[in-house]
Amino acid sequence: MEKKNVWCDYSEQQLAELEKLNQEYRVFLDNGKTERECAKEAAAMAEQAGYQSLESVIREGKTLKTGDKVYSVCMGKAIILFHIGKDEIENGMNILGAHIDSPRLDLKQNPLYEDTELAYLDTHYYGGIKKYQWVTLPLALHGVVAKKDGSVVEIVIGEDESDPAFCITDLLVHLSGEQLDKKGAKVVEGEALNLLVGNIPLKGEEKDAVQANILKLLKDKYDIEEEDFLSAELEVVPAGKARDCGLDRSMVLAYGHDDRVCAYTSLKAMLEMKEVQRTACCILVDKEEIGSVGATGMQSRFFENTVAELLNCMGVYSELKLRRVLANSRMLSSDVSAAFDPEYASAFEKKNSAYFAKGIVFNKYTGARGKSGSNDANAEYMAQLRAALDKQKVAYQTAELGKVDFGGGGTIAYILALYGMQVIDCGVAVLNMHAPWEIVSKADVYEAKRCYTAFLEA
Ligand code: MN
Ligand code: MN
Repeated sequence: MEKKNVWCDYSEQQLAELEKLNQEYRVFLDNGKTERECAKEAAAMAEQAGYQSLESVIREGKTLKTGDKVYSVCMGKAIILFHIGKDEIENGMNILGAHIDSPRLDLKQNPLYEDTELAYLDTHYYGGIKKYQWVTLPLALHGVVAKKDGSVVEIVIGEDESDPAFCITDLLVHLSGEQLDKKGAKVVEGEALNLLVGNIPLKGEEKDAVQANILKLLKDKYDIEEEDFLSAELEVVPAGKARDCGLDRSMVLAYGHDDRVCAYTSLKAMLEMKEVQRTACCILVDKEEIGSVGATGMQSRFFENTVAELLNCMGVYSELKLRRVLANSRMLSSDVSAAFDPEYASAFEKKNSAYFAKGIVFNKYTGARGKSGSNDANAEYMAQLRAALDKQKVAYQTAELGKVDFGGGGTIAYILALYGMQVIDCGVAVLNMHAPWEIVSKADVYEAKRCYTAFLEA
């Protein structure tokens, strides 16, 4: 049952492919630090690969047929791609799914304030984080401000070398006796995650002059008023680029591997398919980190509606057909897995853990406290996948998130399973998951993409 470290098995050509894929992945991460940026990047990549927007197909009344490739973006934050196969679509699709939102700090709706001549932006964290990890780091601000006139201002501050960055302060160690006696969850509390943004008072202003100066800067540079924060989505993320990690450059250190590592490799496999037997589908969704809620999360009808539109464009829509397409589909629901960390070995059960450089990880089930909330894939489906992956010599391993009763996590798998389709959780192993900077193995990134290609071909 022991799996091998894959690095020594690669040919020169495979190593070159692996490097190229990871280099492109790093660029994707640098360009996509929010769900909006990732959806936009994915749509541009799809266009480049010959995909057309489903909305334009509908508008022009075109009919879709075998070989056609279309995509649809939901509210700028989620995207679905289809590549129509030779088989009857009623036989089901091969679906790759992953999420493109990542843990971060969101600005509150009324975020700006001043205290003792320091100006701050107040945040509310998004997703599960260890709050103490987000202080004393260079941070960047990404997002949009939607104005009453219907225009949307896109904002990225803190990524360019010449940009300023932001920071959340922490108490100096010299005065931290009391703080360091607190429980980890309380060392830095959620309400203390306030972004430091300024210290220069506006000349001639009596009250809150530093805050007034920040507002003037926002007005001058972006034509934004303070009230425009009410209709903004501004996300605070670690500033800086993804980079190689380790003396041997075997890993990638970056913000947002969860779950862009699965999203990118799924998308890449999807876009590279020349032709497909079964219709291929790739879903990249938002809001997984907060329970797949909202119009752009997996629980939204967006996916089902889009499949209905696709069938209609193919001239085969009926309610029954839609149900058959969904029920006969197979899905790889990809999300990151916890990599075994020898520094914290006691949280893992060694023979059912994921390890770096042993390939993509399959989780028959996730969940917590007796598999609660898990999808629990069928044994027969796992057997089919083993056959398909072994045939293509894809490296894979199986794991649970950690020891029984140590915690747990959810994914989007159970939502797609509601249609009665075969779904299994899989993904890439990550060290320090949900930290500002997470680590993956380049070999696992490579094997994930190979797995997705093998799945779409099966
Ligand atoms: Mn997560
Ligand atoms: Mn995830």
